[in-house]
Amino acid sequence: MQAEALLQRWQHVKQHIQRLTEKHQRTPNSVSLLAVSKFHSSDAIATLANAGQDCFGENYVQEMLQKASILSELNIDWHFIGPLQSNKCKEVAQTASMMHSLDRIKLIPLLAEHRPATMPPLQVCLQMNIDDEHSKAGVKRYDELHALAKAVLTHPQLQLCGLMTIPAPSHSFEQQSTTFAKLRQYRDQLQQDLGLPLPTLSMGMTADLEAAIAEGATIVRIGTDIFGPRPIKE
Ligand SMILES: *Cc1c(COP(=O)(O)O)cnc(C)c1O
Repeated sequence: MQAEALLQRWQHVKQHIQRLTEKHQRTPNSVSLLAVSKFHSSDAIATLANAGQDCFGENYVQEMLQKASILSELNIDWHFIGPLQSNKCKEVAQTASMMHSLDRIKLIPLLAEHRPATMPPLQVCLQMNIDDEHSKAGVKRYDELHALAKAVLTHPQLQLCGLMTIPAPSHSFEQQSTTFAKLRQYRDQLQQDLGLPLPTLSMGMTADLEAAIAEGATIVRIGTDIFGPRPIKE
């Protein structure tokens, strides 16, 4: 895509988020845009970064590292949003500012151990599988969520921020809203039980953006609406 067209799409998404924020009576600027750049070029990322987009989401460790290295001159916050294997925790801990997809206890000490002391704590969201999909990552029950949260809190190199989910694909606004409302309720419960603020709700993609904003998303993860369809590789 030409830089001009990409910038236009990005502006359009930002305006759309702003309109939905007003429509659903959310606090102005309380929804931030994570540009999901998986499979898209470093050039496209650079175009948006130079225009002021500061956060990019990647699903694959190797791809994130390559892009972070090529674009190291730019001031980019990398968010890791994909499934993580224990042998790749080191790279994520050394590169990312936020990890959205934590769903296993085993990864926690590895991420903490490898977080460089020169960097601020790695921000962490716990991923939930609200719709109970077999193919999806994420914890399904509150007791699992609570145990994960407690484990994160034992490591000062990690900062527990909130929750993340990917709903089952659905074209129904009602169904999308139900899933996102459940994530918010889990967050409220966890916040109360821990006695700590958990401000982040990472939810909402191209197809379910409005329902997510209506239900309290604070980070929306948008790929297709900004960059166009992904090159086939998934
Ligand atoms: C790919 C991906 C997105 C972006 O999805 P779009 O439908 O392209 O906006 C968001 N979140 C996660 C976890 C993803 O893997």
